[in-house]
Amino acid sequence: MVETVKKETHGFQAEVKQLLHLMIHSLYSNKEIFLRELISNASDAADKLRFLALDKPELMENDPELRIRVTFDEEKGTISIADNGIGMTRDEVMENLGTIAKSGTANFIQNMSGDQKQDSQLIGQFGVGFYSVFIVAESVDVYTRKAGESEAVHWFSQGEGEFEIEATQKEERGTEIVLKLREDSKEFASDFKLRSIIGKYSDHIALPIEMLKVEHEEPAAEGEDKPEAKEEKAPEFEKVNQATALWTRSKNEIKDEDYQEFYKHISHDYEEPLDWVHNKVEGKLDYTSLLYIPKRAPYDLYNREMPKGLKLYVQRVFIMDEAEQFLPLYLRFIKGVIDSNDLSLNVSREILQKDRQVESMKSAVTKRVLDLLGKIAENDKEKYQSFWEAFGSVLKEGPAEDFSNREKIAGLLRFTSTHENSDKQTVSLADYVSRMKEDQTKIYYLIGESYNAAKNSPHLEIFRKKGIEVLLMSDRIDEWMMNYLHEFNGKHMQNLSKTNLEEENLLDEEEKKQQEAVAEESKDLIERLKKSLENEVSEVKATQRLTESPACLVLNSFDMGIQMREIMKAAGQALPDSKPILEINPNHPLIEQLEKEDQEDRFKDFALVIFEQATLAEGGSLSDPADYVRRMNKLLLELSSKS
Ligand code: ADP
Repeated sequence: MVETVKKETHGFQAEVKQLLHLMIHSLYSNKEIFLRELISNASDAADKLRFLALDKPELMENDPELRIRVTFDEEKGTISIADNGIGMTRDEVMENLGTIAKSGTANFIQNMSGDQKQDSQLIGQFGVGFYSVFIVAESVDVYTRKAGESEAVHWFSQGEGEFEIEATQKEERGTEIVLKLREDSKEFASDFKLRSIIGKYSDHIALPIEMLKVEHEEPAAEGEDKPEAKEEKAPEFEKVNQATALWTRSKNEIKDEDYQEFYKHISHDYEEPLDWVHNKVEGKLDYTSLLYIPKRAPYDLYNREMPKGLKLYVQRVFIMDEAEQFLPLYLRFIKGVIDSNDLSLNVSREILQKDRQVESMKSAVTKRVLDLLGKIAENDKEKYQSFWEAFGSVLKEGPAEDFSNREKIAGLLRFTSTHENSDKQTVSLADYVSRMKEDQTKIYYLIGESYNAAKNSPHLEIFRKKGIEVLLMSDRIDEWMMNYLHEFNGKHMQNLSKTNLEEENLLDEEEKKQQEAVAEESKDLIERLKKSLENEVSEVKATQRLTESPACLVLNSFDMGIQMREIMKAAGQALPDSKPILEINPNHPLIEQLEKEDQEDRFKDFALVIFEQATLAEGGSLSDPADYVRRMNKLLLELSSKS
């Protein structure tokens, strides 16, 4: 054959081999999805062509009726999926059907565990795509010609590490994929089977999916003799799906399964979405949005290059994937479609960035998502919890990014708290407020290095004693977020480590008197401590805050908290010079002991140890840990030699 000149054999990228292997083994129970994936790709290819043809109508090559055709040959055990979409050049075939292009994916696959059950779930996170053909096919031929080009490409592989590629001729533009089914998957070469899979997974595809018209009313029963020789007439195709864009249909016509399948199509997720919201908006703005919350966080949620944004259509014509302009960053996990009737068909990313309408759509879409989350939180706690575990830490970026929705976002946050003995973040600010004591005016929170550090912080002692609930925050982002969240429901949010007890009205008259008495009694001690610790602390005070610990650190209200300091330190940044206040519990045996110490050197060592321990209890790190250990050991030795 003329076309077979220049046949080349290439090896798949190592990760592709790994992916193929994993896929064939972990998706075996759900073989039929290969058809959904191929149809989804074909539909994207048609979308891309339609878009490019807006500028270059000649790309349609006088064949403007875009469609997908699925045919099969039962005897040979083959299935063909042919589209007349954009097609691929040789380079594109090499790139798309030989490597895993998406950034980070290859890396991710390298880290997969080999545990099949877990991996099959992970596979769902980036979509199985084209390679899923090898679940059912022993070999695959791809014939493709890019719209507007004359040369076509033939790709062939048995899915075992290599593929062949050669130039060929192809009259029709687009891509045809021919699968030679494995012995154990032959059942897919059946009219009934293919139609039902298309109905199940691909009904929502806006493009017509066609199959050969069945001559007889009923599908030919097995074993039945074929009617006389076939007549020589052009094969007649019929549409087997609804072929209207799902989001344009009215809500009550759409089944949950349709929404779910559509989600899988646009998100390349293998799992069902957690929830969705579908709206048609008419009036000043005219658009439809269909927004989905995924079940699971993608592995690259914190990667700057993570694909994010909605699929943008203008008057049903696909314009672009990942239009980021319609969602704030803190909702970057949302997937979906937005179809505008106002934007122009030749809108570009640059135009979107500046467009006023886009700005209004973004704010409406943001509200929709927040309202949906609010509804879930109200009606289905368990579902909300699973959302929170997947995306809570991203939503926490919200208060800083989105001033206008701050209160709404605050209502959606969940925390650990002294009210629950669990490290699961389940407590909302509204829960907290509903449990506030009668005369309590503020929402108290404590930031710690970890849940355990927060839970055991000395700062909590008086709050425990008084039965006042405290929110415990230990996510990296918490301190930063709290810089933007000053109140909820009119209640001021108060950081415990910056709380001046005297200003808090936490002490009753009796305790206040005691406080004064103790302060008076400890005057000398406090003076000595101030002198010994003048490089470490800005102030020393006697406190009622503590019941079990000897001392704790309190920050001035504008000081950076412990988490931010640790983050800055880790990033090698210079820390602003600020010293905490040391509060001591004069009734604690250690402090009593300290007071008795008359040898100045030893007093100083002792005082430093107390300060350093208070730093450690806070989750902070010491500037000279070895020095601390030396001092501590010295004290221990002296102690043991005394007894
Ligand atoms: P994904 O669809 O998730 O990007 P796939 O492995 O399914 O991953 O496909 C890889 C790429 O191959 C697609 O992004 C697309 O560029 C190209 N491709 C696949 N099928 C077709 C097709 N029928 N027509 C044109 N291009 C295609």
